[in-house]
Amino acid sequence: MTTLRRAALALTLIGSIGGASAQAQAPKDATESTRAAQRATLSTLPMADKQSFDDAARGFIEALGDRVIPGSGPRPAWTLKGYEFLAKEEAPDTVHPGLWRHARANMANGLFKVTDRVWQLRGFDISNMTIIEGEQGLIVVDPLISTEVAQAAMALYFKHRPVRPVSAVIYSHSHADHWGGVRGVISGEDVAGGKVKVIAPAGFMEEAVGENIIAGGAMSRRALYQFGPLLPRGEKGQVDAGLGKTVSAGSLSLIVPTMLIDKPVETHRIDGIDIVFELTPGAEAPSELIMYYPQFRVLNMTEITSQNMHNLLPMRGALVRDALSWSKYIGQALHRYGARSDVLIAQHNWPVWGSDRVQGFLKKQRDTYKFVHDQTVRLMNQGYVGAEIAETLKMPPSLSQDWATHPFYGHLKHNIKAIYQRYLGYYDGNPANLDALPPVAQAKKTIEYMGGADAVLQRARADFARGEFRWVAQVASQLVFADPANRAARELAADANEQLGYQVESATARNAYLMGAWELRNGVPKVPAGGTVAPDVVRALTLDMWFDFLAVRLNGDRALGKTIALNWRFSDTRQDVLLTLEDSALSHLSDTQSASADATLTLTRATLDEISLQRLTFPAALLSGRIQVSGKVEKLIELLGLIDTGATMFPLVEPRPAP
Ligand SMILES: [Zn+2]
Repeated sequence: MTTLRRAALALTLIGSIGGASAQAQAPKDATESTRAAQRATLSTLPMADKQSFDDAARGFIEALGDRVIPGSGPRPAWTLKGYEFLAKEEAPDTVHPGLWRHARANMANGLFKVTDRVWQLRGFDISNMTIIEGEQGLIVVDPLISTEVAQAAMALYFKHRPVRPVSAVIYSHSHADHWGGVRGVISGEDVAGGKVKVIAPAGFMEEAVGENIIAGGAMSRRALYQFGPLLPRGEKGQVDAGLGKTVSAGSLSLIVPTMLIDKPVETHRIDGIDIVFELTPGAEAPSELIMYYPQFRVLNMTEITSQNMHNLLPMRGALVRDALSWSKYIGQALHRYGARSDVLIAQHNWPVWGSDRVQGFLKKQRDTYKFVHDQTVRLMNQGYVGAEIAETLKMPPSLSQDWATHPFYGHLKHNIKAIYQRYLGYYDGNPANLDALPPVAQAKKTIEYMGGADAVLQRARADFARGEFRWVAQVASQLVFADPANRAARELAADANEQLGYQVESATARNAYLMGAWELRNGVPKVPAGGTVAPDVVRALTLDMWFDFLAVRLNGDRALGKTIALNWRFSDTRQDVLLTLEDSALSHLSDTQSASADATLTLTRATLDEISLQRLTFPAALLSGRIQVSGKVEKLIELLGLIDTGATMFPLVEPRPAP
């Protein structure tokens, strides 16, 4: 997952939904045209290929089952309860038959023996924990998202294997589903005392704490659509998240690595185990590595491969990923390790056994990203825009008949548009779209030109009956943006989104459609936005990131004409920052102070962290003397008054209030 620092933000919200969906309008049945579409799709799928289920079950020791792992909030950190409906083999007509099959394979959970001395815990979170038995202790690769589930995973392992200390933790990459549970596996004292190594790819900390800071407000809200944590589990609700069932909702933690891999390929002996680390930056994550364990002939592709077509642009929003590098990393791994591997594991989904199958799997994964990239760029260079390329491009049968290339997590059309965006941006080259009217103005004009809302509704209902759900979702959305109080329009828009959700193969797109339908029917859920950030993450923010994050919350209108300069002195870390407001822009310079500043603040970094964690306010810190000010204290107060408060549960499927 992306970024599944993506998830960490979503999961902070999960704990607060409570019974918000109790009075919600119930989802509807599949229409006749959806049922027909599912039957037609089914006939194109390689349903006879049941290998995934054998692979997912191989080496099974003991299941997690329907246990509930408590968290620190009202909702459990993790449970697979509620997914019992996936027990039946045949897909219901409200779920794409390929996604149904994948969602069932992702139900294999518990402790698995991969090969001698290599174990995996799967189904404890969206990601896997891998345990390698070293000479003295255990090497843990990726301690899941939450400390509670990481602890439970270790406990199940120890139930079947000798209890030994953890000698090393390896973070495969910077996304939170690969590090957040670390304090459930080791303690900070063990690391400080040198008992445990913590190994990560170069750039890990900057990316782990930085990826969701600047755009975090928008991403955390949009992540609710990507993962669907507020949707009930069921045949008409959330069934899967592609890379796993969903994200855990316990306590996020982070321990700073003690050893960084910074060369393209490095081999180290860790607790008696030879590990070849190979960096794969800028593909699935900005900071990531894969590993080869030669003693065991095991290749760990971490998240560079999975049993999915991954996403090049998560639906929560992110910088677009590089499909070309991604494909090359897989090709390199195939060349270097394919013939030397008896099993391929990854940090999501299930392994692939047998050198021939490992090599075949890597080829198909390599070619999936290469085909989509190259063919999108070819058509882009002929002038076609994203929506046209997405409509045209079909995966070749040699790929589409391979289950692991199916977009259960990513979404093919969305990926194609992402490649276009990476190279050319949002603008399609047609100046009519250079300064298009914004959503509400456009919708009002369009509906007026089309003869008014009633005329549009009548036609849209007829199109709905014919199964033209894509268009109905689009035009009904215009009706809602023209008049969000139009109940009939909201219901029709919801119905169209829902049928699209039932038909789509991508779990994340399904979640998005069904969440959109839910909000069209019930409104924006009343849960707190954003949630709190974990103390470990706040402490790991650089001052530069902290001031960048302050600046993106400056209200430009309220700051008009104001000029403020403040010296900040951090007495414990001996850092100086000059913060200046001019032209409604807030800028900072490190290691700099101005003799003509309005005021000088002296505080500790620890005080700043407490303010970030909302355990302390600026006024309280001033009153108690934890921030000392010489000069004009009123200038600090004035500046704080210009900063917008944090994330909001903004509307996505209906008009937003004017800024
Ligand atoms: Zn992941």
